[in-house]
Amino acid sequence: MGDAQGVSWLRDEDADLRAMLQALEEARAASDDGEVPVGAVIIHPERGLIAKARNAKETLQDPTAHAEILAICQAAEALGSWRLEGCSLYSTLEPCPMCAGAILQSRIERVVFGASDSRWGAVDSKLRVLEPGLFNHDVDWRGGVLETEASDLIRSFFRGIRDGTHKGSQSSSRPGPESRK
Ligand code: ZN
Repeated sequence: MGDAQGVSWLRDEDADLRAMLQALEEARAASDDGEVPVGAVIIHPERGLIAKARNAKETLQDPTAHAEILAICQAAEALGSWRLEGCSLYSTLEPCPMCAGAILQSRIERVVFGASDSRWGAVDSKLRVLEPGLFNHDVDWRGGVLETEASDLIRSFFRGIRDGTHKGSQSSSRPGPESRK
């Protein structure tokens, strides 16, 4: 982000870490469920934490059950509105195109993510869906918050599947575990 954001980033640093730690907690729980460990939380400017979700694609057999989508649905329910104006979404992994689209649709103000995703990342890595001026809603974003923790979780999840020590269901019959996220 631009230098103009520097001061507020500094001020928000602790809040970002706190929220990301909660998202990481969700990611760990996803791993225990046999899901690719990705967690997300949404913070409302006045109400604080209004949504907390983890990837549930395998559990629900739902290709849209990414942590961010589930968190956005929860937040909309909590607010009784699809407009999540002023809210910040924290995800342990860079959002994919589907989630970046939902972030725009829900008018979320700010996105913070942990690890970058070279395969599916749609904020900075593969696509730049949140590029200012691209759509009629601009989203501030920041990546790399607790990045090591987030990517270590994912790496050890897939290592567990390769070693057969993880209960990740049906994984051995799939072409490549990394393609499951
Ligand atoms: Zn996604």
